[in-house]
Amino acid sequence: MAMNGHFVSVGDEPVAKDFEHGIQVIDDDKTFTPHLNDYLQKTDVYKAGFNYHLISVFGAQSTGKSTLLNLLFNTRFSVMSDTERRQTTKGVWMSKNKRTGEDGGSVMADNILVMDVEGSDGRERWEDQDFERKSALFALATSEVLIINIWEHQVGLYHGANMVLLRTVFDVNLELFLKDRHSNPRSLIFFVIRDFIGNTPLSNLRNTIVQDLHKTWSSISKPPGLETSSIDDFFDFGFAALPHKILQPDKFTAEVENLGRRFVVGDRSKTTASEQEYTGGIFLPEYHRRIPADGFSIYAEGVWDQIVNNKDLNLPSQQEALSRARCDEITIEAIELFDEKIAPIEQQLNDALKSGKPVTLSDVAEAGAAARVVCLTLFKTQASRYQKSIYVRKLAELEKAVDKRLKDLDEDCARLRKEEMRRLATIIERGVKLRLDDAVGLVFNNLGSGRTISTGDAIGSAVPESATNATSDSATGSGLPSEKDLWDRIWSTFVTVSDDAQSRFKVQSKNFDASEEEVAAGLWRLRRKSWIALREKIEEIMKGSILPKLEENFKHKFRYDDAGVPRIWRANDDIEGVYTRARDYTLALIPILARFRLASTYASPDLVAWIGEQPAGVLPEGEDGLPPIGGVDLEGGKTLEDEMTVLSEGKRQDLAIRFKQAADDVYFEAKRGALGGITQ
Ligand code: GDP
Ligand code: MG
Repeated sequence: MAMNGHFVSVGDEPVAKDFEHGIQVIDDDKTFTPHLNDYLQKTDVYKAGFNYHLISVFGAQSTGKSTLLNLLFNTRFSVMSDTERRQTTKGVWMSKNKRTGEDGGSVMADNILVMDVEGSDGRERWEDQDFERKSALFALATSEVLIINIWEHQVGLYHGANMVLLRTVFDVNLELFLKDRHSNPRSLIFFVIRDFIGNTPLSNLRNTIVQDLHKTWSSISKPPGLETSSIDDFFDFGFAALPHKILQPDKFTAEVENLGRRFVVGDRSKTTASEQEYTGGIFLPEYHRRIPADGFSIYAEGVWDQIVNNKDLNLPSQQEALSRARCDEITIEAIELFDEKIAPIEQQLNDALKSGKPVTLSDVAEAGAAARVVCLTLFKTQASRYQKSIYVRKLAELEKAVDKRLKDLDEDCARLRKEEMRRLATIIERGVKLRLDDAVGLVFNNLGSGRTISTGDAIGSAVPESATNATSDSATGSGLPSEKDLWDRIWSTFVTVSDDAQSRFKVQSKNFDASEEEVAAGLWRLRRKSWIALREKIEEIMKGSILPKLEENFKHKFRYDDAGVPRIWRANDDIEGVYTRARDYTLALIPILARFRLASTYASPDLVAWIGEQPAGVLPEGEDGLPPIGGVDLEGGKTLEDEMTVLSEGKRQDLAIRFKQAADDVYFEAKRGALGGITQ
């Protein structure tokens, strides 16, 4: 395949680095150039899709073909110098039209490529015919328009070189048609009559030529089924006449200018009934070979290869091979582009996975989707011009490959998101623990002072109004101590802390684009872990500081009067009575402490409803290493009743006994103090 922008030497012959004279597509030795793609790229035709046109010029040597092309298209095909008179054009040359319209000439169709074909009398006779046939076949397989350049005085020479050439053209066209009856397009054969004197009107010359064409057509043997076909079934004909270049230079220039105006895209339907022949733009859509410009070089080379090796030229199979080759090439290009876009994202993700470098996952997803669009758009734009069945198949393959890559990406994102969620959950759980430690600790601390506190003190303004009100420490007349709503306070503290944590989790998990399911799972875990943290905190208190708290509670009731004034015991005070009331008061706290039950409902909080159902797709709890929760999880065999039991029956009794001993000690001490006071 040709290389972009670099031109190398082939054999001894240096390749024109600047393509000044166009490109020699086929050289004297019938070798096809490896640089056609370079040329098409350099001349900006490569990306034109179907928006280009191809013309081939045929005719005897030294009939002014190259001269005419150069004048029409501003090209620089070699022409015979008037002094040396030897053949110049060898093989087949191609050049892009260099007229821009800005140079004063007429504005022509976009991207016209002209092929200047070696004249037919430049070689030995047998070689000549062989090359002429081959180049005619090549031109017919690729070109929309064949210009036949003839001297006026040769018109009507039925046995002349031109009719021999045309016979070849018709012949090879039938050959191509047989292989491809469906799509073989029409071609325009455009006669340019040179050194037109004007004595015979052009219309007469045209009639003569048309007669000769029909005669030639009828003389060739047609394959079965085409015996009655007419030449008009395959070709359109056009005519132009140019005066003598040297004898009538001004007229010649004017007519060349007129001719130039016809190299535009035409519309045959615009021909009026009075017009004898179509005289509009010569590029009719039906002439186009429908080979995308970016595939032209492969196609042309393949066609030439078949021709030069005397193989049966089969254009449909050439087109199929081309479609496959180009779709593959475009796939590679599209994947390269995709890679280019996706590589930095993959790198970012890798860094994030390896070193915890932060990455915004929504950006990653967006960039992945954008890379997909860019890649598929490139493929669709270029490859859709090729055979549909091949294009559709290759597109599906490309989509599959790209989606597979994106799924890698997706999985990495999911992994990263999971890690980020876990990190976030850990931080939030730690916060929950700290706040519960504080708030729950404070509730129990104040148990000792005999003054239960407002949870608002511990958890701030997040506590709803009603929760704060519920803490007001007024005796209720139920006979229970005022600490009876201790669990209500702890539960509302807990719910507030946990709600707060949940909303923080929700907000922050948005940062890494977590799905609703992932957030729901995270919240579910967070609620469970919060509950377990609360349980642990309560257990810790029950194990360690509950006895001193009860003692303090008792001491407060025992040592202070109802007005909060410290009592000075005297011998005749009812120490036993105060002691018994204070002791019983505190003892009544033990059954309250023993179960997590709300004073408002006389029932445990509805933990099952509060934790909620396990979201689908979340690991069973055991796999997280978390203890099962009674009444919520089946495993572990614990009931909600068990879960809400803070002190077992045995522990209750043990606590009561130890408390009574401590209370007794306080009592004896007071008694001794009172007696001591008397003896003093
Ligand atoms: P090609 O071999 O057909 O490409 O012919 P060239 O363009 O190289 O021209 C061959 C010779 O014919 C040159 O000497 C030109 O100056 C001359 N020539 C070009 N155009 C005309 C023309 O319209 N009439 C005549 N009589 N000579 C021409
Ligand atoms: Mg020439």
